[in-house]
Amino acid sequence: MKASEINCTACGRTALVRTEPVYEGFKKTGEVFICTLCGARYASAAETPFARADARPKVFNDDDKPAALSVFSDDERQRCCGWCRHFVVNPFNQRCGLLNRETQATDLCARFEKKPEPRHENTKDTKR
Ligand SMILES: [Zn+2]
Repeated sequence: MKASEINCTACGRTALVRTEPVYEGFKKTGEVFICTLCGARYASAAETPFARADARPKVFNDDDKPAALSVFSDDERQRCCGWCRHFVVNPFNQRCGLLNRETQATDLCARFEKKPEPRHENTKDTKR
């Protein structure tokens, strides 16, 4: 059985939910969903406050996401091959178009030349 999470409305926590079959005589008529933390019962899937992947508890907020990606400081990162105008990506490898040798986006290079228009994820300005 696949474990599911709910945002339990009874105890207000995110909990794993347990399903129990409901029988009418010998015929299975449905399932009830039970909060494993407080035991609240939900009579049907429609009534169960399932936690969706995009509705996770707010452990991370949007401000945390860019920080998690900033392994390098801006200064360092912008001297990496990935930011260089000579950096060539094709389906087989990544290479430096200037030295014509294989390289990594994170390599630092003495021949670095910044790309003419570095892309920023969050700004769609038309600065020129
Ligand atoms: Zn609960």
